[in-house]
Amino acid sequence: MDLGLQGKVALVAAASKGLGYGIAHALAAEGAKVSICSRDEGAITAAAQRLHDETGAETLATACDVRDAAAIQAWIERTVQTWGNIDALAINAGGPPAGPLKTETDERWQAAFELTLMSTVRMIRGSLPYFNRGGAILAVTSSSVRQPIPNLGVSTAMRLAVAGVLKTFSRELADDGIRVNNLVPGRIDTDRVRELDEGVAAREGISFEAVRERSVQNIPFKRLGTIEEFGAAGAFLLSPAASYITGATLVVDGGGMSAL
Ligand code: NAD
Repeated sequence: MDLGLQGKVALVAAASKGLGYGIAHALAAEGAKVSICSRDEGAITAAAQRLHDETGAETLATACDVRDAAAIQAWIERTVQTWGNIDALAINAGGPPAGPLKTETDERWQAAFELTLMSTVRMIRGSLPYFNRGGAILAVTSSSVRQPIPNLGVSTAMRLAVAGVLKTFSRELADDGIRVNNLVPGRIDTDRVRELDEGVAAREGISFEAVRERSVQNIPFKRLGTIEEFGAAGAFLLSPAASYITGATLVVDGGGMSAL
């Protein structure tokens, strides 16, 4: 199936590695022009070069911390100045740090609000004036939108807020011909998941391998997902091939979630 992404302009946030990079790679492989950002200039420039080398796609790298409203706007405008209007936006960011709710401070709540919720709002609001009809937006959230995750309470609260924002935008933007969807990773093999598992291992005094084995046993496919598998789902949702899908939550989890 041709996804219809050839020559389309796509922005992917937090894409120097992990899930964002996976989406950017899948879009680039389908012929989209891909503008990626993350905090570190060197890392994002290297990622854009790798994307170009592996797919031949045009790429643009911008250093942007998505907690910074002005930096988001500058990234969007630089992309539009380079390639014209926008067809696709993948919202992503690092996850709020783990910790039990009883010890979370106001400062950590506020930081997560800026990182996860306001970055989503700002990326959508900032890019809307430049969006082509037929375009699409997705945000990477978390399985916590279906099943709250102990020790990730702040993240869970922010992800649920993002899910509400996405659903509302999906209805408000339908007349503009823009689709908005929620892309949920179960457990995809990235540095973030490795760090979380190392944290569990340290807390429980067991090996990293034991933590991995336990978590994999809860996944019907008995393995973590890959960023390629996740990226393919993202590219599909952002493509004209998904033209009747909006306001949806697509879960990429190897069957790991038991929630309906
Ligand atoms: P990762 O650590 O592998 O990659 C994170 C990327 O985000 C990097 O490119 C990093 O530079 C960038 N980044 C972090 N903070 C940023 C900021 N403030 N501004 C701009 N860029 C920033 O992590 P990942 O596994 O790819 O996770 C991406 C998101 O998905 C996170 O929010 C994570 O909590 C969420 N998530 C991931 C999984 C999974 O299975 N990997 C599961 C549930 C939720």
